Amino acid sequence: MSPNKAISINGAGIAGLTLAIALAKFGFRVVVAEQQSEISEFGAGLQISPNARRALNALGLSELIGEKSFEPAGIDIYSHGKPNPIAEVTLGKFAADRYDGTPYAVMHRADLAQQLYKATKSFPNIEVLFGVTNTRVEDIGDGVSVIIEREGHSPYPVTARAHIGADGVRSHTRIDMLGGKRPQYSGYVAWRAMADFDQLSKIVSTERSSLFWGPDYHMVVYPLAERKQFNVALFTEFSLPLEDSDTPEISNKSLRKNSILARILESISDPWTAWPLFSVKTSTWYKGNVAILGDAAHAMLPFQAQGAAMAIEDAALLAAIFASDADNKTAFEKWQSLRKPRADAIQDVSQKNAYIFHLSPPLSWGRDFVVSGKNADAHLKRLDWIYKHDPFEGMVGPTS
Ligand SMILES: Cc1cc2nc3c(=O)[nH]c(=O)nc-3n(C[C@H](O)[C@H](O)[C@H](O)COP(=O)(O)OP(=O)(O)OC[C@H]3O[C@@H](n4cnc5c(N)ncnc54)[C@H](O)[C@@H]3O)c2cc1C
Repeated sequence: MSPNKAISINGAGIAGLTLAIALAKFGFRVVVAEQQSEISEFGAGLQISPNARRALNALGLSELIGEKSFEPAGIDIYSHGKPNPIAEVTLGKFAADRYDGTPYAVMHRADLAQQLYKATKSFPNIEVLFGVTNTRVEDIGDGVSVIIEREGHSPYPVTARAHIGADGVRSHTRIDMLGGKRPQYSGYVAWRAMADFDQLSKIVSTERSSLFWGPDYHMVVYPLAERKQFNVALFTEFSLPLEDSDTPEISNKSLRKNSILARILESISDPWTAWPLFSVKTSTWYKGNVAILGDAAHAMLPFQAQGAAMAIEDAALLAAIFASDADNKTAFEKWQSLRKPRADAIQDVSQKNAYIFHLSPPLSWGRDFVVSGKNADAHLKRLDWIYKHDPFEGMVGPTS
């Protein structure tokens, strides 16, 4: 196959695997180099909003995603100290009808990665190499020459049209090849746990997500029905340093004064994992024949639950542009000009949500008054610009 029809990718995360599938559907040969020895089981829940699902469906993945995801009927929003929700966002069929039949779902990150990986196996033109210790990339003008190194294997050479760093928030591609910055600590930690279904179903809805707002914290709880567990993610301000092996006490004191949250915390027997949240801002998404996407380009706070969705949208569009434009410079320029304003805007909304969700009285009273006055239509109207998005931005998508 001509090098012009081959693409090298670093990272078999959400962005890398989605890109591999999208490119393979357009007839490219794809080699994905992943540092882990297998698809990681680590992680917790993430949200597959209609914009992400629209892209995944266009790639023929609707059934695979449907098998392992859960579609909550709505979101109950609680404000600190109030026993009942102050607002109820309606999702389910109401939201799917609004978004051309595309549902809103939640899913474990490992299940999403596994399902994407499973999909790559039906493409003879995708190779995923695990246990990669180093990827040497040389830009050779009309493409890239890549050597993939793995313990116990001979170096694997790939000549490709381009090399794409889908290597996450700490991206070597961004830092070492594009001269980008290290990620910035956001000041927040996500404390994550998977909770026993039976225990938590006595406290929160088994059909809906629950969102708790409080002074300097918020918590998101939703059922992952297929795993018979609840995903619990608590976000608090936290000063680093925090080593990977640390399991510090959850620091926010107001939490335990909230009776529902105190019950949720008590019902969790598994250890919490602390996940410090970093973000990335860089204006350089590509140089020559090398580019970055997903968290490598724009890691964001998960407070609008769009990190995975943005990675999926990036990947779908980049593949469609590659398929229609053989010149990398033109393709990357067009892709960045379409993607960056949206990624920037969603980064900004995620940051603003941190402020809104974590307000203390009296400002939180004003917030609660406004939110509790909204009807089902108004709740979603605010999100239409995110959820109605066409991931191919008018380009021709792949045929399924
Ligand atoms: C293990 C893990 C668990 C996560 N859990 C959650 C979660 O519970 N909830 C949530 O909202 N988000 C989670 N995230 C982040 C979320 O997946 C991303 O924000 C989002 O999906 C964007 O995906 P991405 O593909 O850009 O980055 P990622 O999903 O982070 O994937 C990056 C991939 O690149 C690989 N990689 C990194 N460096 C190299 C290298 N030098 N060579 C080869 N491969 C490399 C990594 O091992 C990883 O597989 C998690 C990420 C990871 C890696």
